[in-house]
Amino acid sequence: MTLTITLFGNPVLRRKGAKIDEVTPEISKLIDDMIETMHKANGVGLAAQQVDKALQLCVIDIPEDIERGSRMWVDSKQVDLLEYMPMVLINPEISITKKKEIDYEGCLSFPEIGADISRGARVKVKALDRHGNELEFEAAGLLGRAVQHEVDHLNGVLFTDHMQAEDKSSLKPKIEEIREQGIEQAKASP
Ligand code: ZN
Repeated sequence: MTLTITLFGNPVLRRKGAKIDEVTPEISKLIDDMIETMHKANGVGLAAQQVDKALQLCVIDIPEDIERGSRMWVDSKQVDLLEYMPMVLINPEISITKKKEIDYEGCLSFPEIGADISRGARVKVKALDRHGNELEFEAAGLLGRAVQHEVDHLNGVLFTDHMQAEDKSSLKPKIEEIREQGIEQAKASP
């Protein structure tokens, strides 16, 4: 089942996600629905807050044709990241390298908006997978960027918070338009 994606302005996007203690059938269903919703929207990542649930849960899927320098290591050995897609991260904890990389980024909660965002060049991730098993890896390129973007969502942080001032001001009219839609969306949801 595809879910409605929450838009900027909807307060759920600023809520820190609650830790998931157990992968219940409800959580499994939510994971399936989030993957379906992400695919339908042609996104590479989706956080629970973006489907109106403040939980420590996000999904990522980097397709083969837009890998953009994505690399992944498990136990310091490089692995074929496509074997890990779609990826489910539950209660993720990350550490980000000091070295930064700037690349173009978008967000499904900000339709038709994108900007250059500085992120750590490499990220270490510790999380649970959809079966509740521990998953530890390092990531770079678009995968590393997607992990940082999604984990931000789980803490109520949005990519506009990282935007350079000049991009933010030039995009302001469009951002304000989305904010109004997001406020209306929150009022309309039960
Ligand atoms: Zn996003």
